[in-house]
Amino acid sequence: MPKGYAIFDQAKWSDFQKIDFDLKNPADDDVEVSITHCGICGSDLHTVRGDWGTFCVPAVIPGHEIVGTVTSVGKSVQDIKVGDRVGIGAQVGSCMNCSDCSHDNENYCANYMVDTYNSRWPDGSIAQGGYSTAIRAHQRFVFPIPDGIKSEHAAPMLCAGLTVYSPLYRSRVGPGSRVGVIGVGGLGHFGIMFAQALGAEVFAFSHTASKKEDAHRMGAKEFILMDKSDDWLKHMQQAPLDVIINTASSSSVEVAKIVSCLKVGGHIYCLGLPKEGFRLPVMQLCGRGAFIGSSHIGSKKEALDMLRLAAEKKIEPWIEVLPMKECSKAIERVAKGDGAFRATSRAAFNKPAFQPHFGSVWVPSLFFWGATGGMFVTIAMSGVPLFKTDVLLKTPVASFFEGTYCMTDMADKTPDCDKPF
Ligand SMILES: [Zn+2]
Ligand SMILES: [Zn+2]
Repeated sequence: MPKGYAIFDQAKWSDFQKIDFDLKNPADDDVEVSITHCGICGSDLHTVRGDWGTFCVPAVIPGHEIVGTVTSVGKSVQDIKVGDRVGIGAQVGSCMNCSDCSHDNENYCANYMVDTYNSRWPDGSIAQGGYSTAIRAHQRFVFPIPDGIKSEHAAPMLCAGLTVYSPLYRSRVGPGSRVGVIGVGGLGHFGIMFAQALGAEVFAFSHTASKKEDAHRMGAKEFILMDKSDDWLKHMQQAPLDVIINTASSSSVEVAKIVSCLKVGGHIYCLGLPKEGFRLPVMQLCGRGAFIGSSHIGSKKEALDMLRLAAEKKIEPWIEVLPMKECSKAIERVAKGDGAFRATSRAAFNKPAFQPHFGSVWVPSLFFWGATGGMFVTIAMSGVPLFKTDVLLKTPVASFFEGTYCMTDMADKTPDCDKPF
């Protein structure tokens, strides 16, 4: 029987209990995976702490940046076989019959979506996440990992990476594109690196001057400090952008101003979800013929393309390895934005594996302005049984705690789940 680290009481959100649990009922399209790695996303913290509402299930095993080895496949599964190394992100199921599911938009399925954890399948079985030994998911949400990517590097891409890759992909960002990324944190760092890897010129926007060097190391052509003067705005208006990815979760980022940095007909994607929303006079959009939108995780098609690009360009997030049994401590550090952790993580970057590629350097997978700090933790079990030996828990360097959460969980359409979002 699979085992996992579960939270029962949101008031004791770091008090993980080891439990046995049942996987979903098997189906012909299902792939069962023995988990070797799992990132800790800010969504995990927000879910266990109750920031996004009460649990939909009696106990939650978080984790939706999962990498592991396939242990069995249903008879309808194609292109995935036992022994393959695969990843699973923030979604494990959808209807597969609707127009969305039929057109590579399963991440927008109009009928139902099953989140990776704190969620139920239509038959009532509970979906549990990756702080565990195993998971079963529909093949559409299982992504083969190319050989060129280490498992611990692939894990944080499966939620945070895909969340920014999808809008870049759908905007056809490529050579000649000028892309702005608001927020040099978790989502933002993936945004800068993926856009640069796609051939775009990238402009990193932040309120924090100290992010400048890191933004350049990630591959940003320019760092734009959004200070109180409007000089930066004037500067960008002289050479406007095709696409802006806004990872800010706070309304302190003035979207109305930033829209003026777009070329005529340009797009801005708001990936952060400020609780309070923001005001945007239509006049601002009108002035540039601009479009504002958002995005929800990504499709399998996009995930596979992202992983191909990451392998080809050797894109690597910075990570720290910790024992999985320390997941309680780790999630508390996510909540605190632990400064000591930062220093520890940085030391690891001197290793060759963390050297920059294509002129860029990976920074922590953290994002969102002013939100509770967060980090991605990759739990690596190295193929050994959970709870019998130390497990590695890997965290992208947490030097930039702008906070992190994947808004993916905030669009829950799971049946029986009554979240406030
Ligand atoms: Zn559907
Ligand atoms: Zn996430």
